[in-house]
Amino acid sequence: MEYTYDYLIVGAGMSADVAAHGIREIDASGRIGMLGAESHPPYNRPPLSKALWKGEPLSSIWRASAADPLDLHRGRRAVTLDVAAKTVTDDHGDRYRYGKLLLANGGTPRRLPFDGERVVHYRGYDDYLRLRELAQPGRHIAVVGGGFIGSEIAAALAMNDCRVSLLFPDAGIGARVYPQALSAFVTGYYRDKGVDVRAGVKVVGGEVDAHGVHLVLDNGDTLAADALVAGLGITPSTEFAARAGLHVDNGIVVDDRLRTSAPDVYAAGDVAAYPDATLAERRRVEHEDAALGMGRQAGRNMAGADEAYTQLPFFYSDLFDLGYEAVGDLDARLSTIEDWKQPYREGVVYYLRNGRVRGVLLWNTWNQLDAARALIAEPGPHDAASLRGRLPR
Ligand SMILES: Cc1cc2nc3c(=O)[nH]c(=O)nc-3n(C[C@H](O)[C@H](O)[C@H](O)COP(=O)(O)OP(=O)(O)OC[C@H]3O[C@@H](n4cnc5c(N)ncnc54)[C@H](O)[C@@H]3O)c2cc1C
Repeated sequence: MEYTYDYLIVGAGMSADVAAHGIREIDASGRIGMLGAESHPPYNRPPLSKALWKGEPLSSIWRASAADPLDLHRGRRAVTLDVAAKTVTDDHGDRYRYGKLLLANGGTPRRLPFDGERVVHYRGYDDYLRLRELAQPGRHIAVVGGGFIGSEIAAALAMNDCRVSLLFPDAGIGARVYPQALSAFVTGYYRDKGVDVRAGVKVVGGEVDAHGVHLVLDNGDTLAADALVAGLGITPSTEFAARAGLHVDNGIVVDDRLRTSAPDVYAAGDVAAYPDATLAERRRVEHEDAALGMGRQAGRNMAGADEAYTQLPFFYSDLFDLGYEAVGDLDARLSTIEDWKQPYREGVVYYLRNGRVRGVLLWNTWNQLDAARALIAEPGPHDAASLRGRLPR
């Protein structure tokens, strides 16, 4: 089959969906086609590690369908892109001609060196369904990875009466993001909730059979569990773009209009490395707000707008009954200033480089995102005296 679209979107995730809406804000009638490797229509990923484990119905994750007319080709993976001929082909051999193309194909989870029926590399809806099946109350689940996904899934499973072992190589949960004392608090908090936290260990081997997983750790320990879920981060899905000759450097490189190095080809979301106006550096952000903001902007620009993507994206997480929002660069290697209303329960952490605020963590502190963005845009210099009490805690 051959299809012709004014706008073709590769990927049918969050960024892709909102891009279709962005196109429709400008162009009411151009034909939009969307190719998604998954067999599902676009859905929200954040509830897969949070709300769905707290009783939200499955039906809540589907995104409101994008503007018509829209052809959604589900279960189709784009495999080749010819930027001169302006065509994409998929893994069934179908061909798509485009006027404008958006690459919103996200990332793929990093994998352990072994796999099996009782191992879930957690990323999508099908992974959620499999984990739900495996995570019967009383079962022992090993969660590998102490970052966003690992920590959220460990909490979700513990709240659903599983026995949970959480294993990761860092010194504490979220150690790459939170200041050391906050990471230590969160780690203790998980232990108090009954999670068997094993910090400072790597899984170096494993066997999977019909009954469970048997892990070998780098400290010589072994661990048997009924199932394993891995949250090891993602690598951006850039091969497709790289094969077509697009500029790729830790993501598909785009300008402030979200244009790639190829004419009429845009990129957005987890896969895109964009120039951040506020932080004055190229970044790739794996968070919802960036996916939605870039997706909409790319859609508008494909349809004729000429607008820069300037938003400094925020992100958020829920860990049992702790929660936060954050904006900017949260790198635990930066110097930090902590301003607690109640230590580790409610407060603000500022991340600085050379006296300039790069990021703000709003720990159980809400409605301060715009104030945090404004602060990051300030040239400074800032220090503890100028920052303590700066944002209402
Ligand atoms: C479990 C989980 C929880 C999360 N929680 C939070 C949170 O609390 N807060 C937050 O800010 N962010 C969170 N995120 C991150 C957020 O969901 C992502 O940043 C967002 O989904 C990125 O959107 P995207 O459209 O760029 O990519 P994706 O949503 O990954 O969509 C990309 C789609 O493209 C498809 N695809 C890939 N290659 C091809 C191809 N060649 N052809 C066709 N289709 C292809 C993929 O199958 C996928 O469906 C979470 C992510 C996960 C997995």
